[in-house]
This record gives sequence, C-alpha cells and structure tokens, in this order.
Amino acid sequence: MGLIVQKYGGSSVADAGRIANVARRVAEHARDHQVVVVVSAMGKTTDGLISLAQQITPTPDAREMDMLLATGEQVTIALLTMALQALGLPARSFTGPQCGLRTDTDHTRARITRIAAERVRQALDAGEIAVVAGFQGLSEADEITTLGRGGSDLTAVALAAALKADLCEIYTDVDGVYTADPNIVPDARKLARITYDEMLEMASLGAKVLQSRSVEFAKKYAVPVHVRSTFKANAGTLVTKEEQGMEEVVVTGVTHDRGQAKISILRVPDRPGIAAQVFGAIADKGIVVDMIVQNISRDGYTDMSFTVPRGDYTRAVAALEDVARTVGAQGLVHDERVAKVSILGVGMRSHFGVAVRMFAVLAREGINIQMISTSEIAISCVIEDKYAELAVRALHDDFELGRARGAAV
Ligand code: ASP
Ligand code: MG
Repeated sequence: MGLIVQKYGGSSVADAGRIANVARRVAEHARDHQVVVVVSAMGKTTDGLISLAQQITPTPDAREMDMLLATGEQVTIALLTMALQALGLPARSFTGPQCGLRTDTDHTRARITRIAAERVRQALDAGEIAVVAGFQGLSEADEITTLGRGGSDLTAVALAAALKADLCEIYTDVDGVYTADPNIVPDARKLARITYDEMLEMASLGAKVLQSRSVEFAKKYAVPVHVRSTFKANAGTLVTKEEQGMEEVVVTGVTHDRGQAKISILRVPDRPGIAAQVFGAIADKGIVVDMIVQNISRDGYTDMSFTVPRGDYTRAVAALEDVARTVGAQGLVHDERVAKVSILGVGMRSHFGVAVRMFAVLAREGINIQMISTSEIAISCVIEDKYAELAVRALHDDFELGRARGAAV
C-alpha cells in the first residue's frame, strides 16, 4: 500500500458541492493507498481576505496579515474532513502548525525550515486520512506564517518529501502542462512528462501551473509530481527528473507572458557603479527586473533597457526618474505593451541553431524582436504585445509541437 499526497487548489474546493466531489475522489484513492490531502482556501477566499485587509489599512502588519490569511485554508480542512467522515471514512484535519511545519520568520512569504509531520504520520498509522491546511506554518518564533501566494503546492510537495510519499498529485482546473496555451493554440498537446528544470522555466516564463518554489523543492528532494485535473479522470503531466531520451526533443513548449512592460534609460554615462545605482533604486521598491540589455557605449554614454511586471511599471518609472536625473541620463522611454515569447526544452542543450530558427520564424511573420535573453534551456524574445498570439502559434507550428504533427504523448 503506497502513500500519496494529493493537493486540491482553490477552484477544486470552491463550494460545498465541489468539496463533496473532492471527498469522493479522495475516497477512491483511500481504498488502496494511505492518503494525505492538502487543500487551499475555497475559491477566491485569499483574494477576498487581502482586499478586506486593504479596506482597513493600505499597510497591514505582516504578522496580522498571516493571522488573517491562514484562516482561509482552515475552513477548507474542516469541511473536507466532515465530507470524508460523511462518506464513512476515518479522517482528521490538521493546520500547518499542527503538522510541525516550521518556517523562518519572514511573514507572508516564509520559507520552510523543517517538517516533523509527526501527527500526520500517527493519523496515517491509525488508518486515517490526514487533511492538511496548505500555505501555512509556524515560525521559529512560534508565530503563524504563510508561504507566499500559491503556497499550498509547496506544502504538498514538502509533506510528500518529509513522508517519503510515492507520489505528489496536484489537482487543479487544468488537466496538465501543454506545449502552449490551448486557448491560443488549438493544436497544443498535453505533455506526458516534463523535467523539473523545464517546469521551473515555464513558471518563470509566465505559465502558472505550479508555484515555482514548490518545483524547486520537488527537484531538490526528487519528489515526482503529477499535475492533473480535479474534474476529469484522465492522466495529467508528470514532473520528474531528466531521463534518457528527453533531450531528443529539441523544444518542449512555447510560453508567453503578456504582463510585461519595457523601460529604457537613454544616454546614461558609461562608468562603473551606474547599473548598481539604477537597478538598486528598483530593487529598493521590491520590484523584480526580468530582462536587461545594455547597448555598446558610444562617446562615453550608453542606453539600458529592461522589463518589469506590468503591474509594477508605474512605480518603477517613478523610482527611475530620480535616478536618471542623479546620474545625468538623458531621460526615460517606456512601453507598457510588450510581451515575452519563449521556447524552452532540455533538448536545447544539445542542439544547435535553435535560436536562429526562432528568430527566422518571427522574421517570417514580420515581427520585430526588441530584446533577447537566453538560459541553458530557454530563449525569450520581447516583442510588441499585439503580436504575442501570432508569435506563439507560428513557433508552435514551426517546431512541430502540435498534435497533428504526431509526436506521441
Ligand atoms: N490560498 C493561497 C493562495 O490563494 C494558497 C494557495 O492557494 O495555494 O495563494
Ligand atoms: Mg492556488
């Protein structure tokens, strides 16, 4: 009898009917497995709690924020446990602190430091289904903490690692990871397997199926993660370590991120310390810069361009206007409407000419490339936002990723 950890996201437990549905799914697995169920807050509960806090004060205290946010998941564990008991199954709910999930003291984005999982183990030994609140823990200072948005994924993976589970299943409203967004590319194909590294690239490139930190954790402890649908019975996508043969495929998927904005600082003096000053000003505001390009220097001046999440764009520009003046730059130009389109795959490590092929596809469609960045297993181009869907379709087609082209799942 194996042990599985199953995680159900907010949309899977959005109302009483859906909680009952989850209970039935859990019951099926509990027949021949020990099961730990990790749940998120119901539906958009966490968003609702955040907005409540904002109505009280624009700057809520981080400790109190965690006290508030942790309530969402606690509602779900109690209700799901009742639903399981109503089906005649022995079940018991546990908060993060009750599971011995300890974190550092960085409220609202705490990192896990250790998991005892003692009580979960006892429940399993007693033949019970353990129902655990995702997203929350207890800090080393004995305060309730949360693990950052989407943190229930991390709870599930971390528990799977601690309990040495055979599998961690993430149940969600999509039925797996696709070669591209199926809403844009009707021909997109569900991937049977994907490596941890590819999944991490996907998350950082804008495809939000799993929380990034949960994937890092899964990779570190080699936890196999199966992403699948709560509402369909078919198999999803297995996120796993790289195996032989996976490199034979040149490109695994095409992703896009339309939530980007581009900022350029023109004619910045080209001397040591300027980049540190410029990006320091943005980092101080807690804004994450993605792509950075610095042009070749002419007569002692250079231009710098970079992208930030569109939501942070106004604040970034405000922070930079001061810096631009201080360092004697000519000024700023910005473009709120850019998109990042990327191709990724572990196969890129061993295949040549992938970048050239990507650029040629975009050229053929008449799409201008504004910025380029590469990693070992991905190439990204910043383009005008209005061409994003066209670019994704053209790349998906040219790299023969679609169902029609055959590559069997
Ligand atoms: N409820 C939390 C959130 O909405 C955690 C999660 O769903 O994973 O971010
Ligand atoms: Mg979620």
